[in-house]
Amino acid sequence: MPNKQHALLVEDSPTQALLTLAELEKLPDVKVEHAASLAAALEAIAKTRFDVVFLDLTLPDSVGDETVKRFCGAAPELAVVVLTNHDDDAQALQSLEQGAQDYMLKARIDAPSLSRSLRYSIQRKRAEILVREARDEALEANRQLERRMRQINCLYGVSRALESHELPLKVAMEEVVGIIPSAWLRPETIGVRLTCHNGLLPGGFVETPDFVETPWRLEAQVFAGSRPAGRMEICWPESRPAEGSQAFAVSERELVRELARRVGQALERACVQKELVQLATIDFLTEALNRRHFMQMVGSEIQRATRYGRPLSVLMLDIDHFKRINDDRGHAAGDEALKAFVILCRDVLRDQDIIGRLGGEEFAIALPETGLASAEVVAGRVRAHLAEMEIPLSGGDPLHLTTSIGVAECKVKEGEGLEACLGRADAALYRAKAQGRDRVEAAE
Ligand SMILES: [Mg+2]
Repeated sequence: MPNKQHALLVEDSPTQALLTLAELEKLPDVKVEHAASLAAALEAIAKTRFDVVFLDLTLPDSVGDETVKRFCGAAPELAVVVLTNHDDDAQALQSLEQGAQDYMLKARIDAPSLSRSLRYSIQRKRAEILVREARDEALEANRQLERRMRQINCLYGVSRALESHELPLKVAMEEVVGIIPSAWLRPETIGVRLTCHNGLLPGGFVETPDFVETPWRLEAQVFAGSRPAGRMEICWPESRPAEGSQAFAVSERELVRELARRVGQALERACVQKELVQLATIDFLTEALNRRHFMQMVGSEIQRATRYGRPLSVLMLDIDHFKRINDDRGHAAGDEALKAFVILCRDVLRDQDIIGRLGGEEFAIALPETGLASAEVVAGRVRAHLAEMEIPLSGGDPLHLTTSIGVAECKVKEGEGLEACLGRADAALYRAKAQGRDRVEAAE
């Protein structure tokens, strides 16, 4: 019969074994095998699947509690009925605690009580297994819930850091990169790095102090709108324990993607802000400072020069006959001329010199730490280089430009301001034009 219960009797006394086997064989739906030692019993259960074991506690190779412990340890899914010689309740209860499902006194063994105990112990074992599985499931559900809560907290923290308008982007990103490891169970084993393509972060990236590049990583592209703006990487070391290697579930990959998306939005916002600042300060055609920003920047340079008694000079420059270029060659050629003019000036100037487009074809240059004589040399160099330069134009002859320049050193000792100094440079420029253009004139 396929649904016969399979029982194993473990009994070393031949007389007792015969008695018990005789009673067990009276049960029609039970198939029984016999082992005379613990070792033989363990060998039998390794070979055959049993439903229940009748276990004598006093065996040649194991005695008392030890027998139950060793057997139940080896067969945690198997129902165990302990057979005792004496009416010893303490021993019997201890057996139950150690994993047995029932106990019987050998003196009272008969077919009906064996049948009852067999069914009862099997049912009890099944119930125990169900309870254990349910408990394991509940524990696992709690672990998942805790992880989810960490992840949600992480996302919340990241959103808050990125939405904070007071924090500079670099600081916000550092906070973001610090928050991410705490979303996982073993923060000390996780490194995070954020790389930016668009130069918004000084140094191009931020990362956790213990970031180590390993093949064990999660990566997500950071997009600002549709433009790729960078990359977010999460790495963990090879030595991560096996259970931890499952730490990155699908939901966590999604979390990394979601984080990258939010970082991208923050970068995009920062880009827009940067562009707004540029629009407000830079002349979009030539990329020289616009008039307002030039006046601001040079105004503070003059304050500094005045405070420390340092020299500072300004140049006023006007491209000669610029109106003719626009009229004869078109406005596109005029734009090319203006751009080429600023590029040439930058070649001649030092990094700390400031060039601004004051309007039309009129430019100004401030030279910090420069007296009148040196400023005249710089102006002469700009004039000469420009006179030699050819500006190639698509569909036509190259352009030749000349410039007239007025130079003035700021009278810092007299507390002269920028407007007054530019006024004197402008008067010198007027003289240069009156005297035939393509000249440098110094102010009184
Ligand atoms: Mg015995």
